[in-house]
Amino acid sequence: MTLIDSHCHLDALEFLHEQELIIKDALEQGVEKIIIPAVNRKSFDDVIELSKKFPNCFYALGFHPMYIGDMKKDDLEILQSYLKTYEPIAVGEIGLDFFVTKENQSLQEEVFVSQLKLANDFDLPVIMHVRQAIDDVLKNLRRYPVKGGIAHAFNGSLQQAQMLIELGFKLGFGGAMTYSRATHIQTLAKILPIESIVLETDAPDIPPSWLGHEGRNVPGELPRIAAYFAELRGMDLASVIEISHQNTLDALPKIVQLCTSSENLH
Ligand SMILES: [Zn+2]
Repeated sequence: MTLIDSHCHLDALEFLHEQELIIKDALEQGVEKIIIPAVNRKSFDDVIELSKKFPNCFYALGFHPMYIGDMKKDDLEILQSYLKTYEPIAVGEIGLDFFVTKENQSLQEEVFVSQLKLANDFDLPVIMHVRQAIDDVLKNLRRYPVKGGIAHAFNGSLQQAQMLIELGFKLGFGGAMTYSRATHIQTLAKILPIESIVLETDAPDIPPSWLGHEGRNVPGELPRIAAYFAELRGMDLASVIEISHQNTLDALPKIVQLCTSSENLH
């Protein structure tokens, strides 16, 4: 059984022209699949292109809350037409960020709700970015239910985690839990039900502690993140790899469909 990096911005400028090497390294480390969420209009074509080039990459399409200020009037219609035309495994990366960008809260909420509705229309899960806004996200998910998905880089309370799990979500853990002062995230990683956890690098963001300031976060770091998590939970690494792999497929079931249909083509 192999790992899935459930959140990686492989289309980021930092990785330009190096994606092939990065993917090769990831595969050598046992990271079999990589999920790339789009963040804005421009990235839609980039993530689709990457998945065409690298069959172990899967993408989500959506507008990230931190990029909503740059959106054009017809962007949501464009998202709708892309969801119709292409094969995203989720709507994402969507969500609310009241930490970095709080001056446009109501616009963020409006775009988030529109994207929840689109996810529902297309029967897709969502990949969410949530910062200092979990209660608002929960409120909107209750009003506009979707078929679950992933709350990536989760950093809320235990109670908020449980509410997201009840709404069908898995919670993403990655580099942030590897810092010694990150005791809250570590506690969550230790006590949440193992079935609700997925692993991610969020590369190039959130480098794990061992990379220091100089190091570059890539999907190939995921095995060490998984080992850190296994140690935290007192589990063996093989079980962590197997269970987190299955959890990711459960959250994003279209991956299985796409793999099956591409096998049938050969
Ligand atoms: Zn992200």
